[in-house]
Amino acid sequence: MKKIKHLEVKKVKNKNKEITSPKGMRDLMNEEYYSFQGFFEKAQEVAVYYGFKPISTHIIEDEEIFTSSIGEGTDIIDKEMYTLKTKSGDHLALLPEHTAPVMRAYIEHGMQSMPQPVMLYHYGPVFRHDKPQRGRYRQFWQFDVDALGSEKSIMDAIVIKTCMSILEEAGASNLSIDINSIGDKECRGAYIKELTSFYKKNLSSLPAIDRERLKINPLRILDSKEEKTKEINERAPDSISFLCPSCKKHFKEVLEYLEEMKIQYNINKNLVRGLSYYTRTVFEVIETGVEEGSAPLALAGGGRYDYLARQIGAKRDVPAVGFSIGVDRIVSSPWYKKLSPRILKKPKIYFIQLGSEAKLKSLNIIEILRKAHVPIAQALSKDSLGSQLAIAEKLAIPYAIIFGVKEALDNSVIVRNMGNRSQDTVKLNKLLDYLKEL
Ligand code: AMP
Repeated sequence: MKKIKHLEVKKVKNKNKEITSPKGMRDLMNEEYYSFQGFFEKAQEVAVYYGFKPISTHIIEDEEIFTSSIGEGTDIIDKEMYTLKTKSGDHLALLPEHTAPVMRAYIEHGMQSMPQPVMLYHYGPVFRHDKPQRGRYRQFWQFDVDALGSEKSIMDAIVIKTCMSILEEAGASNLSIDINSIGDKECRGAYIKELTSFYKKNLSSLPAIDRERLKINPLRILDSKEEKTKEINERAPDSISFLCPSCKKHFKEVLEYLEEMKIQYNINKNLVRGLSYYTRTVFEVIETGVEEGSAPLALAGGGRYDYLARQIGAKRDVPAVGFSIGVDRIVSSPWYKKLSPRILKKPKIYFIQLGSEAKLKSLNIIEILRKAHVPIAQALSKDSLGSQLAIAEKLAIPYAIIFGVKEALDNSVIVRNMGNRSQDTVKLNKLLDYLKEL
C-alpha cells in the first residue's frame, strides 16, 4: 500500500515534465535505423573479407582503462567521459572509444597465445559529453577494425585499405587520407622537446587553452581548433624530420603499400590525433568537396598504438593498429548509398482477412508463408476490406491474398493481382506452389 502511494506522488511530480531524450542523444528508428543496420552489415562483410573477426565488448569499462591510455590533456579525458561510481565503489565509464576495450579484451583472454596478428572488428555506441553540433553527438556509433600483435607496416596498410573499402562501399567517393608518423619512444622524446621549445618561443601568441595544453600534452596543440594556434602551427617543427631510422623505414613502407593499392594520401605534418596511445602511423579520412562554408568532416580516424597494452597494465607491449569509422556521419551524408539490411525484404503479398473466423485462421496461414520465406505485409488489427486494400495500394504491393468467411470454410484464399485486378481462388494446400509461379 505504502509503495503505491509513493508511485502516485512521483507521477504527479513529473506531470508537467516534457518527455525527451538527453541532449545530444537520439533514438534510431524508421529509415535511419535501416541505414545503420545496412551499413553495419556491409562493413562487416568487407572486414570479414580482409580477415577480421567479430568481438563485442561490454558498454562500460573501468574508468582507468581510458584515463591511463588516452591521457590527460585530451578532451575525452578532461571533459567528455560519462563516468559513474557504483554502489560498491567501482569507478566505471561508458565507452568513449573502442580501442582500449578491445586491447583489454585481447589481454584478458590471453589472445597473445593465438596466431598473430589477431584481427578483430567491433561496432557499437560511443559516449562523449561534447557540445552537440553538426555531425557531433553525445552518443554516436563507431565501426572499428583492429589488428593486434604485429608491428609490420603491411598491417597499417591493410587496415587503411579496409577502412577505405568500407567507406567506398557505403557510397563515398571524394575521400582524402591525411597521414603522418609521430614516431616511437626512440624518437618522440626529441620531437616533443623541440615542439615544446617552439611553443615556448611563441607563448605570448598562444591562446590560454593551448598554453595549458603545453604543460600537459604539447602534441595536442598541433590539432588545436584555435585560429591563432592554427597560424602558429604552420611553422611548427614536424615529427617526420625527427623519425629514427626504424620509424622512417616503417612510414616509407606504409606509403609504398598505399601507392601500390592506388590509395591517394596527403602527408599532414600537423596530424597527431592527440590521444597518448598513438605511435608511428596516424591517419584520418576526410570528405573533400563538401558544401562551401562548411568545414570538411572527418569520417574515420586511426593509427598504430604499440604501447597501449602496457599503458592499461599489460606486462609487455602489443604492437597494434586500427581505425574507427564515425557511422552517424556516413549514413547522414548525401552520398550515402542506401544499404538496406538483408532482413528487409520488399513484401510481395498483402494479406487481407475478413471476419472473425478468417482472422483466427489467418494466424496459421501467415506462419505457413513465413516458414516458406514469402515476404508479406498485413494489418491484422483492421477489419474492413476497403481499409486493407487501401493500404495494399498505398504500399504498391503487387499481389493481395484475400481470406474471408467463405474462404475460411473452404480452406482456400483469393489471390488478387493488384495491377490488373484479376483474381484466382487457390486451395490452401496448393498456395505455396501457386505463389512460386507468380
Ligand atoms: P575518434 O575516435 O575521435 O578518432 O573518432 C573517429 C570518428 O568518429 C571520427 O572520424 C568521426 O567520424 C566520428 N566521431 C567522433 N566524434 C563524434 C561525435 N561526437 N559525433 C559523431 N561522430 C563522431
